[in-house]
Amino acid sequence: MKQGRIIIVSGPSGVGKGTVLKEVMKNNPALRFSVSATTRKIRPGEIDGVHYYYIDKPRFEKMLENHEMLEHAEYAGNYYGTPEKAVNDALAQGISVVLEIEVQGALQVMLRRPDAISIFIAPPSYNELGRRLNGRGDTPPDVAAERLHIAVQECLNAPKYQYTIINDTVSEAAAQIQAILTAEACRSEYTTIQLKEDE
Ligand code: 5GP
Repeated sequence: MKQGRIIIVSGPSGVGKGTVLKEVMKNNPALRFSVSATTRKIRPGEIDGVHYYYIDKPRFEKMLENHEMLEHAEYAGNYYGTPEKAVNDALAQGISVVLEIEVQGALQVMLRRPDAISIFIAPPSYNELGRRLNGRGDTPPDVAAERLHIAVQECLNAPKYQYTIINDTVSEAAAQIQAILTAEACRSEYTTIQLKEDE
């Protein structure tokens, strides 16, 4: 059985990583998306248990205390974290898991799981990211400005990832991630050659 891999995907808010990942997941039904826990408020259209587990701060802190998180971070005033058990259960079944997480959490996973694949999705330019953030409709201007500031700091961390993708168009970015996944699956340490004669 092929080993499952952790696939870390980060990128600034508004870069379009959700859309790119949706495309990648559509073409790779065997991939599993890790559902994070967060203390931020649920947005219109989001579903508890699908997009996130929406929990309060005391419950989040309890999970941290019980070492239930693979990683966690504070982002724009809210906590976000990856429940570790679901990730480990998938990997044990040979299923690869996508973690769509911000940089601080990604760095923790890189340290704890050195075999994780790490991908940074960057915007084509600062101005374009500003346009995408403001055009999204669900983000008030002051929040968008804060996120643009955070975005620049986040992009400075791109060299810490194994791969960087520039999201010019969704289809090209998705194709590049596909190429990474295909190459990673062919790495010798994850490939077993069948050398015995068939029975
Ligand atoms: P949003 O509130 O827009 O859904 O997410 C804000 C940021 O938090 C995004 O950069 C997203 O990738 C990140 N994020 C989502 N889940 C997690 C998580 O479990 N851990 C960490 N460290 N970041 C997360």
